[in-house]
Amino acid sequence: MKVGVLALQGAVAEHIRSIESAGAEGVVVKHPEQLDELEGLIIPGGESTTIGKLMRKYGFIEAIRYFAEKGKPIFGTCAGLIVMAKEIEGGEEAHLELMNIRVSRNAFGRQRESFETDLDVKGLEKPLRAVFIRAPLITEVGKDVEVLSTYKDEIVTARQGHLLVSSFHPELTDDYSLHGYFLEMIKTNKAVVN
Ligand code: GLN
Repeated sequence: MKVGVLALQGAVAEHIRSIESAGAEGVVVKHPEQLDELEGLIIPGGESTTIGKLMRKYGFIEAIRYFAEKGKPIFGTCAGLIVMAKEIEGGEEAHLELMNIRVSRNAFGRQRESFETDLDVKGLEKPLRAVFIRAPLITEVGKDVEVLSTYKDEIVTARQGHLLVSSFHPELTDDYSLHGYFLEMIKTNKAVVN
């Protein structure tokens, strides 16, 4: 099973390692044509404005929307979550507009720029070690979105059919269980096409 990691900017190598540790083949994605050979895609953390600009420049917006329309699973982490959202707070233009969520960027503020915690995530057997780095929060969820975890009552993991997002970086620890969960989504591939 081939799973791509969008390699425009951000934490690519770490996701490839996690995909391979969870039992699939990781593919570094630099061109939209590569999406054809993939069964799932991860959009990594980094800087969402930069990733959004590069996605537009290299033709990834339409290509990833088409990928999602076909029911293929996508997992966005941190900045990847932001670019998948239908709405970004503060009037900033949304990017892929795939998921019925509203997000607030850098929601933890300067006091808590980065931190780690153990999170209970619905669908995972054990608490997950979650690394938050200038993380966004999901401030509203719409139709068909299931909340999978919260941190201090704020939503940090959610799923909408074949779309999965986390505010934190699951690729920065040796716990591959959320990548394993994503691989299971690909295997069952129960698409809820918007
Ligand atoms: N704060 C970043 C943004 O708004 C995301 C941070 C991250 O991906 N670690 O794009």
